[in-house]
Formats: sequence, structure tokens, C-alpha cells
Amino acid sequence: MANIIDGKLISQNLKDRVKAEVAELKKDGIESCLAVIIVGSDPASRVYVNNKKKACEYTGIKSLEYALPQETTQQELLELIEKLNGDDSVNGILCQLPLPKQIDEQAVINAISPKKDVDAFHPSNVGHIMIGDHVMLPCTPAGVIEMIDSCGIDLTSKNCVVIGRSNIVGKPMAMLLLQKNATVTVCHSKTKDLAEITRRADVIVSAVGKINTVTADMVKDWAVVIDVAINRKDDGKLCGDVDFEKVKEKASFITPVPGGVGPMTIAVLMKNTLNATKNQNGR
Ligand code: NAP
Repeated sequence: MANIIDGKLISQNLKDRVKAEVAELKKDGIESCLAVIIVGSDPASRVYVNNKKKACEYTGIKSLEYALPQETTQQELLELIEKLNGDDSVNGILCQLPLPKQIDEQAVINAISPKKDVDAFHPSNVGHIMIGDHVMLPCTPAGVIEMIDSCGIDLTSKNCVVIGRSNIVGKPMAMLLLQKNATVTVCHSKTKDLAEITRRADVIVSAVGKINTVTADMVKDWAVVIDVAINRKDDGKLCGDVDFEKVKEKASFITPVPGGVGPMTIAVLMKNTLNATKNQNGR
């Protein structure tokens, strides 16, 4: 039976480290500040934004919320971002995705100053992640690495299989695993015989968004299984991609959903805001 990786506990430890550093900066008169923009009233986005604000409160980071109406134009949003880019009291800017369809998401991502881009979505930060000299961590993949590190697992020479190739999870996840000296395979919807590939994996990271993408027959004994996905079952409960109950009987370590990768993402966001604040103040 696998060890269940406790994302709540590991994220709490990370937030406590951030909180201590934020308090140190405050002693020197430096206040860390995150501006969060939400456009429209998507309920899931509202939950995510509220959780981010709660994490700011906990860590001592000042949070500013800009709640814009659904009909906001791209021009209006870009003007707000421009204003925040030029405001020295704002260290991080986050625009909650998805955006209403009249707004081009990539134009918004490109408009945020890379120095304040705490989601690490700007092409410049994506490039730095690729090169390996990044300051802004890709939040979810960096959270996964933090969890694996916390379990004392050395990724050197391990066969790691990432399922999903999105810009926010799959691709940066593969880069961070490579930087840890793993041998990385990235799978996607066009991959042939996924099970044959996952059965050879020492570590599986699933980021698809479909229930039962990873079943017990696809996992070798003692594999490490990380479930990034957040799916809603018919009964309204949350679950991941992995058939948790059966896979946990084979894996050595496994993350639950909820209480796994989710809390890590927000903790890394706090770390990025702290790093941005330090950078902008020559620390
Ligand atoms: P996405 O952009 O929809 O990407 C999904 C990926 O899965 C795509 O690359 C897709 O392949 C691949 N895929 C789809 N069906 C597949 C199949 N049958 N076999 C193998 N690969 C398949 O999603 P995302 O934004 O990366 O998010 C993925 C999941 O993680 C979602 O459930 C999301 O809610 C969750 N998530 C969680 C956090 C967190 O903090 N825990 C953060 C971000 C996302 P193609 O490229 O070929 O289409």
C-alpha cells in the first residue's frame, strides 16, 4: 500500500517558509504585493481567486483584487495591466484564466511584465524555464517537484512519464523533470498504447482532466504516481485522473485529489510573489 503524499502539509511548510521571508522583508520596509485580476463571474475562477487571497493573507503578502465585468474589452484589460506594470508598489500580477471570449488570452499573458508574471506564463519566463535559469517557477509543475523532493525521492535516471502536454502543466513539468536528470516521456491524446508506456514508468505525472486515465493495470509495482487533474464526478465530488483506490495498492507513493497537487500550486504562487519582490528590491 502506497504512502499518501500530503499536499496540504507540504504546501503548509512552503507557505510557512514564504511567510518568514515576507516578515523579514517587512522589517526592512519592503511590502510584498500581488494584484489579482478576475474578469466575469465564473464560479470556479472565483473559488481559485479566493484561495489565492487566503494564501496571501496567511503569508503576509498584500493582495489587491480587480474584479472586472464579463463584458470588459481587451483594451480595458490591457490598460489595467499597463498601469499595474508601472506601479512600483505591485510586485506580482496574476490574471485568472479562462477569460471571456472577446479577450485574447495570449495578448494578456504577453502584456504582463515578465518581472511581475507570477504564473510564469510569459514567453520570456517560459524560455527561462526551458534554459533552466528561471526565477519564476511554473506553479503546478514546481509544486509537483517540491512534493517529490519532500518524499526524499531522487529522480536521477528515473523513467518519468508525463501525460498531457499543455503549456501550463505538461510541457513545463517535462522540463523540470529533465532538470532533475530524469529520462522523460511526454504523452498526449495522439499517443499510441499509453498503457505500454506508463507500465515502464518509475514516476507517472498525469495532467489530462479525464477520470480513470490511469488505472491499476497501467502502473508498475512501486511506481510514484502524481495526479495533477481536478475532475468532478457525477455525485459532485472531486477526483483526479488516477483510479486512486486501486492504484494505491501498487504504487510506492501517490497523491490524493483533493489535497494533493492543488494546494501546492498556490504555495508556489506565493513563493513566486516573494521572489519577484526580492528581485525588484535588489535582494
Ligand atoms: P489541457 O490543456 O486540457 O491539456 C490536457 C492534455 O491531456 C492535452 O495535452 C491532451 O492532449 C492530453 N490528453 C487528452 N486526452 C488524453 C488521453 N486520452 N490520453 C493521453 N493524453 C490525453 O489541461 P491542463 O490545463 O494541462 O490541465 C490538466 C488537468 O490538470 C485538468 O484536470 C486541470 O483541471 C488540472 N490542473 C490542476 C492544477 C492544480 O493546481 N492541481 C493546475 C492546472 C491544471 P492533446 O495535447 O493531444 O490535446
